[in-house]
Amino acid sequence: MPYDPQNIFARILRGEIPCRKVFEDAHVLAFHDINPQTPTHVLVIPKGAYVSFDDFSAHATAEEIAAFVRAAGQIARGAGLAGPGYRVLSNIGQDGHQEVPHFHLHIFGGRPLGRMVPKAD
Ligand code: 5GP
Repeated sequence: MPYDPQNIFARILRGEIPCRKVFEDAHVLAFHDINPQTPTHVLVIPKGAYVSFDDFSAHATAEEIAAFVRAAGQIARGAGLAGPGYRVLSNIGQDGHQEVPHFHLHIFGGRPLGRMVPKAD
């Protein structure tokens, strides 16, 4: 899938749409999810134009990947989640139910999170 520069996170990165920012550096932006599923629900995105984790893991530079992983851990730690625990998750493509086609990592925490993925039946 080609990168769509009009996706909502690209517009947030350009400052066209506001966000509640929690972290920013040269490679990474993180902000609160607009529809939080847990007491803490932060989205971490690379500033580069990557559609998904699949795209990012294949094409991002080592510097971008390192910055992204370091930032995600730092954000979770800064939110007080390292002690009680938390979850990171990325939805990819159709089966993964990805809605926004700019790679993002969800950080969920602030309460017990239950099973990893609900069983179908
Ligand atoms: P996905 O299903 O693609 O993994 O998750 C997309 C996430 O982006 C959802 O949790 C949704 O609530 C969040 N989201 C969608 N639009 C906006 C927005 O304009 N601002 C913020 N902060 N979050 C958004």
